[in-house]
Formats: sequence, structure tokens, C-alpha cells
Amino acid sequence: MASLPEIPENAEIAERFADLHPPLTAQAAVIEANRCLNCFDAPCTAACPTHIDVPRFIGKIARGNLRGSALTILDANVLGASCSRACPVDVLCEGACVMHGYHRESIEIALLQRFAMDAFHASGGKLPRKSQTTRREKVACIGAGPASLACAAELRQRGFAVTIFERRALPGGLNTYGVAEYKLPARASMKEIELIRELGVEFSTGVEIRTQRDLEDLEREFDVLFLGVGLGPARRLGIPGDDHPDVIDALAFIADYKTATPRPVAESVAVIGAGNTAIDAANAARRLGAANVAILYRRSRQDMSAFAFEYEHAKQEGVQFLWRVLPVCIHTSGGRITALECAQAKVDASGVLTVVPGTNFHFDCQQILYAIGQSPLLELLQVCRGVQLEHGRVAVDRATGQTANPKYYAGGDCVNGGREVVDAVADGKRAGAAIAERFERGAEARRTAEAAHA
Ligand code: SF4
Repeated sequence: MASLPEIPENAEIAERFADLHPPLTAQAAVIEANRCLNCFDAPCTAACPTHIDVPRFIGKIARGNLRGSALTILDANVLGASCSRACPVDVLCEGACVMHGYHRESIEIALLQRFAMDAFHASGGKLPRKSQTTRREKVACIGAGPASLACAAELRQRGFAVTIFERRALPGGLNTYGVAEYKLPARASMKEIELIRELGVEFSTGVEIRTQRDLEDLEREFDVLFLGVGLGPARRLGIPGDDHPDVIDALAFIADYKTATPRPVAESVAVIGAGNTAIDAANAARRLGAANVAILYRRSRQDMSAFAFEYEHAKQEGVQFLWRVLPVCIHTSGGRITALECAQAKVDASGVLTVVPGTNFHFDCQQILYAIGQSPLLELLQVCRGVQLEHGRVAVDRATGQTANPKYYAGGDCVNGGREVVDAVADGKRAGAAIAERFERGAEARRTAEAAHA
């Protein structure tokens, strides 16, 4: 079982991207855990896409049973450590906590979850098997993001042989390459994935499954294929000059500082888009040394898709915001970007954005990061035989993740169009359980038939 590649420590990045929410001390964790009311209907659990039993894991922390607490988390969510750092808990578990709004603060569910998971990792804890039976069926997971990791772990814990195929050098998808380092360091993501590898999941990294021939080879070797391929290429700006090398995909900018060498950052940086990736890229540019960083968005503050707390955080990091602004073209001099020409935008009566004539202005910058969404990975999805797409997304049975071709299952961003890590984990686990139950039911039926003929 080959070990996973390691990300070398980078002291400068670690210092610049220090923890946004430092971990709880043991004393603080116990005090916080004892504030939980152990609600019978636990709205926090209902609000979690993976339905972690929140009062149960918190109660175990209060009683000093940290291993039991971590196992409760892992039973629902095998990526419980990264979700404790990356989840937008204000709009999930903590937002649903009954303490929220009663002149009291919500229970610090994320920090408690991280406390239990950190203790589990520090103690050398391993993921438990759910069945000691060794199954003969083999499953291939395509893509090594959270959906595939959760699917693979569920199947492996139930005795199935699983191989994950990943085109990049490292597994983890957004957890490793895309979540801001001050929330989830890439090395922490890899530590969590190491537990899945130790469980016996095979990782085949640097291998791109791209063509129908590639898929046919996998179909011959594996009983089921799980598509956890995420989204495709970033959408480009489509304005004159956007092929300049200093016009950079924001996700690539983030991936580079997290796992490779940070790109040199300019004095003044324009970030186009107003989702959470735009915010992460803008904050990263500030922390990497840009003096002036602005997010330019074509609509208003109320329309931005980034969470409100991310917006507030970006303002604290010193990021400026320009609303109702459309990029028009990129100006260069001597091979360097000098400005992004923009114009004010307005929305007409039918909701269409148009340029307000005579409002063009130059935003002085030397680097432009774009985060205006990603296209579906159609090149691959369209050659998956019998798999149906709806608006570029894989159509699945929500309860099982099965596609129109019973040999293919799918989950995560390629199904939901791009949601949170925890949504992908929920999809992957649900699909893994459905695949396992399908074969377990088949084996049971065969045994019953053999007994009847004996
Ligand atoms: Fe505890 Fe809040 Fe969940 Fe109630 S809603 S069980 S107080 S974390």
C-alpha cells in the first residue's frame, strides 16, 4: 500500500495564514461542552448535512471520553476534522443551535468537534471497520475530493475493495487545494486522508480518467464506478486582454500557495466575483503582501453569494469592495498589466445587467484574479455511457446517488453544481452505503436461493 505524498512545511505560509479560530484548550472545551443543553430534538444535528449526533459527541467531551466523541463524529462524517474547520457553521449547526438568539452565544460546535478530532489524530486513532467480511466486489472512485473520500471510506469500512483515481498529485480536492489555509491547512487535510489510506483504500494519483476508453477499462475491472469529479475549468472573463499571464484563476492562485510555491503577488490586485472563492483569494492576496486588494462585483452587496461572515472577515483583512461594476478590458504597458477598465452596471426591468454609458473608469492593478464560477466537467461526463445530465449536472436518485446507468453512482459538486464540503461528504457516504447494501442484499439473496436448492 503506497503512502501518500507529503506536503513540505512552509514556515512563512504557516505564519502568514495562522489559524483564524485557534483551537480550544482542554479546560475551555469542557466548560463549553457543559453549556450544551443536550436538546432532545437537536436542531444542530438536523441542520448538519451529515447529521452528526452533536449533543452525543459534545456530551462525551464533557465526560472526558474524547475517543468516543471522535468516533461518534466519524461514524456520521469521516471528514469530521476538516468539516470542523471548513464548514460555514453559522448557517448550519451553530446557526440552528437553540442558544442562538436567546441573549446567549451558540454552542461552539465546530471548535468542540475540532477539539475531539485533534485529540483523536494526536493519539494515533484509526478509522474502525464496520464489518470484518472481505467482499469480492470492487469499486472505483473517480476524483479524490470529499465525495469520493466519503464513499470510499464507507465501502472500505464494510469490506469492499476501493481504488480512488485522481488526476492531481494530491488527494483531497478542495480540502487540500481550495480551502483558505487559515481555515484548513493542506497538511491537516492530508493527515485526515491518511486515515482513509490506512483503512486500505488504494490511491492512484496523477492518473486522469478522461476518455470513453479510460472508462471502459474501469468498467471491465470494477463492479461500480463512483463519479466524484467535481467541477470543470474556471469560467474566464471573456474580455480583451484576459489571456495575460497575470490574469489568474483564483482557485489556482489558492492551490499554489497551499501546496506549491506561492505566486508573486502584485502591489494592487483586482478580484472579480463575489463568492466564497473570491473572498478566499482576496484575503490570500492581502496576506501574501498585496497593499491594495479589491473585489469587483457586477451586482450589489445583497446579491453576492459569499456568506455574510466571510464578507465581514474580508473587510477586516483590508479588502475593498466595488459594487455594480463590470470589467470591460485589461490595459497593459511594457508587458505588465496597468489597469482593469470597468464600467458601472445597472439592472434593467427584466433583470438583465447592462453598462451605464459614460461611466467607464480605470482600476489600477497589476494582477487580476477571477472567481466567476466553474463549468461542468462535460468532457468526461458526456462519455459516461448511459449517465444522464441535467443542466450539466449528473442526474441521480437522491436517496442512493445511482445514475441512470446502474453501474455508475455520483455525488458532490458534479451533482449539486458546487456546494459545501459537508454536502459532498453526505452524498459520498449515502452512495457508499447504497452500493454496499445493494451487493449485501444480492449476496443474501444468493445464499437464500442456494439454501432452498440444497
Ligand atoms: Fe447543544 Fe445547541 Fe445542539 Fe441544543 S442545539 S444540543 S444546545 S448544540
